Amino acid sequence: MTILDGKKVSNDIKDEITIEVKKMKENGEKVPHLAAVIVGNDGASLTYVGSKVRSCERVGFESTMVRLSNTTSEVELLDKIEELNNNDDIDGFIIQLPLPPQINTQKVLMAVHPDKDVDGFHPMNFGKMALDMSTFIPATPFGILELLDRYGVETKGKHTVVIGRSHIVGRPMSILMGRKGFPGNSTVTLTHSHTKNITQITSQADIIISALGVPNFLKAEMIKDDAVIIDVGITRVPDDSAARGYIITGDVDFDNVSKKASYITPVPGGVGPMTIAMLLKNTLLARERHRAYSK
Ligand code: NAP
Repeated sequence: MTILDGKKVSNDIKDEITIEVKKMKENGEKVPHLAAVIVGNDGASLTYVGSKVRSCERVGFESTMVRLSNTTSEVELLDKIEELNNNDDIDGFIIQLPLPPQINTQKVLMAVHPDKDVDGFHPMNFGKMALDMSTFIPATPFGILELLDRYGVETKGKHTVVIGRSHIVGRPMSILMGRKGFPGNSTVTLTHSHTKNITQITSQADIIISALGVPNFLKAEMIKDDAVIIDVGITRVPDDSAARGYIITGDVDFDNVSKKASYITPVPGGVGPMTIAMLLKNTLLARERHRAYSK
């Protein structure tokens, strides 16, 4: 069994990006600038945005955190997005989800200019991804592809089962694994909460990508020998013995599943760090495109 070490690979990617940024500086070019908008005080969201900003600093990007109160109206947020769309200094930006209930998430994501949409959530970018066109691929699925690629995990002709059909992970993942090319060329089954007899499906899978957010959902008896297991789940499970009062738990019963799997991602240290690394990669791409059309 091989651990797909997202922490190590993400550090490799950050080192590669650092070299690129260094070259940009040496050539007197502007370095990539990422902005992150966060609305409210959700603890997990603040942690995620904080680590995105720290990662920007680590590779030499500029970063801006825009903090808005929990009572921000949809109009106020849309105004802020318009400002970021028109700010030539900012190459890309993200709106940290979830948003408070008074704000329509779909409307907000549609307002982000597709050229600055480094999360790849705008319908134009999502459509381009589905049509195999060059675009920003959502960071979590992009990170999973990169992990499979760097470990040389064969995907061609394999049966990939994706659990969960969210717009940010499961749905794009199912499209990407079925695309022509590597990683891809899989036969994909997309499962969700209405799927019947899910064990029957997962036990036939060569590759399982689990993104549902139910701790320890995937058990050893649900997989076949030598399956490749990608665990996207991140759930804070209360634990009084932990310093923070909770532990981070994935969707996979790691201790038992890892005994049967050929490759597996740990939680933490698997898909999570890859997501941030690929956001940086998308921001670098946004800067390169921005430079190309500003010439
Ligand atoms: P989400 O929007 O909550 O969607 C969950 C999906 O799982 C839905 O499609 C749901 O089906 C499906 N589902 C729920 N219960 C199920 C069951 N018993 N059997 C099969 N499918 C079931 O989730 P998300 O935003 O994709 O996040 C999923 C998990 O990944 C969460 O733990 C999240 O924190 C984590 N995450 C991690 C990263 C990372 O960087 N590692 C990034 C994003 C998310 P329906 O569509 O039928 O409701």
